[in-house]
Order: sequence, then C-alpha cells, then structure tokens
Amino acid sequence: MPSADGRLKDKVAILTGASRGIGREIALLFAKEGAQTVLTARSLESLEAVAKEIASFSGLAPLLCALDVKDSHKIDECVDKTLDKYGCVDILVNNAGLTRDGLFVRMSDDEWDEVLDTNLKGTFLFMRAVSKEMMKQRRGKIINMASVVGLVGNAGQANYAASKAGVIALTKSVAKELGSRNVLVNAIAPGFIDTEMTQALRDETKNAILKAIPVGYFGKPSDVAKTALYLASDESNFITGQVITVDGGMVM
Ligand code: NAP
Repeated sequence: MPSADGRLKDKVAILTGASRGIGREIALLFAKEGAQTVLTARSLESLEAVAKEIASFSGLAPLLCALDVKDSHKIDECVDKTLDKYGCVDILVNNAGLTRDGLFVRMSDDEWDEVLDTNLKGTFLFMRAVSKEMMKQRRGKIINMASVVGLVGNAGQANYAASKAGVIALTKSVAKELGSRNVLVNAIAPGFIDTEMTQALRDETKNAILKAIPVGYFGKPSDVAKTALYLASDESNFITGQVITVDGGMVM
C-alpha cells in the first residue's frame, strides 16, 4: 500500500462488517491512516485474514470481535474489550449489512426480520453501545452505511430499502441528540458498488442499473472507503446528520 498522511493517527475505530467488500476496504484505509482498528463480522477466519493484511503494512494488530450484530450482549462485550485495550473509542462505522431480496407480496416474516434486525437494529445496538463513552469523552464520529435505495426505494427490496431508510432516520435523530456532546453522526448512501453483495445480481439487472448511472460505471469499495475516511477525520468536524451519496450520480 502507498504511504498515507496519518489522518486518523492514534484514533480508535470500531468497524462492523470488516471481513470483506466495503468494510474490509475501510479497515485497510483506516489502518493505513494510522487508526487502531477493531474489526467485527461473524466469520473469525475472514477477520483474521484482514488483520494479517493490516499487520503486514502497519505492524498494528487489530482487535477482533467475531459477532452477529443482532446480539446486543456480544456488542457490549466488544465495546468493553475495546475500552480495556485502548481506553477510548473515537470512531464507529456501522457497515455490516445483508440483502434478502424478493417481491414484497411474497416476502416472508423471516426475510423481513433478518434484514431489519441486521441492518437497522444492529446499527442501533452498536450506536447505543459506544454512545455513553463518546458522550463522556465529548468526542466521537459515527458513520452509518445506508444506501441510495433507502432514499428512493427499489422494487424487490422492500425489506432492504426500509432498513436503509430507517438507518437514515436513526442517523439524523441521534445526530440531533448527541450534537451538543460533540458526537457527530452521518450516513453514507452508496449506489452500486462492485462487491460480493452485488456480484450475485443477474447481468440483465446490472445492465439496467448501469444505464441509470451518469458516470457510466460501477463504484469500487475504495470510493466508499474514502468518503468514510473524510467523515471519520477532523476535516468533517462541522458536519453532522448528513447523508452523502456515493453513486456516480445515480440519485440526485
Ligand atoms: P458484503 O460484501 O456482503 O459484506 C457484508 C459484511 O457484513 C461482511 O463483512 C459480513 O461478514 C458482514 N455481516 C453481514 N451480516 C452480518 C451480521 N448479521 N452480523 C455481523 N456482520 C455481518 O457487502 P458490501 O457490499 O461490502 O456492503 C457493505 C454495506 O454497504 C452494507 O451495509 C450494504 O447494505 C451497504 N451497501 C452496499 C452497496 C453495494 O452496492 N455493494 C450499495 C449500497 C449499500 P460475515 O458474513 O462474516 O458476518
């Protein structure tokens, strides 16, 4: 990796969904910028692979929390471990998420619950777990991964779109509650980013999406990671309650 500017030097960052795709890219970039990282996902094996990469270029050993973001007990434990090891938590990126697509009329209770509980409730649980400490510190940055479909909806993704619209409303509400304590809360709404999540889509669907992107190509995980870095860094210290779309102009 090329050398970095240390924009997150000595900051402690908890990153969810850090085992692959956008979350992995954020973990690598934040570590490159000097952050001490706490990586979470369900698969410990995948987290270990990312931690190895980080150690290879930074010499830093990330703290790993293998957990499901639906499990509030495990989340509290992870935040406690972070505080025991580093003494503070400066940044939380709520990136873990999944899709269970299908037509609304045929959507099962399980498909609804799984997506809402992971994407929306998981975000709430992690925000709640770090907020007390951030309020005490009188500093903190929380970045939530929404989606453009949370802004405009999408056929076949009623559960996912509702979860991401919920993430946006949650972001704005908590930004209003915690602003006076210097805890800043923002969301990123990616458009189509080339990851495992989108690789599963049919070519027909991908071609239709491509036509709706003014720049004419799909985004990369690094496009989202760079926006997360901006929101995590001191460069965005007067920004809270915002949703930044990273979508090549798809939604404007
Ligand atoms: P991805 O490649 O499928 O990665 C998802 C990450 O979330 C993995 O690290 C996964 O690890 C973790 N995860 C999933 N369910 C979890 C759970 N219940 N508990 C803990 N961790 C869980 O997805 P991605 O494309 O990078 O997407 C990352 C975020 O960006 C998501 O919130 C997604 O909704 C959002 N987004 C993506 C796009 C896109 O085009 N790719 C567009 C808009 C928004 P484990 O499986 O090991 O748990």
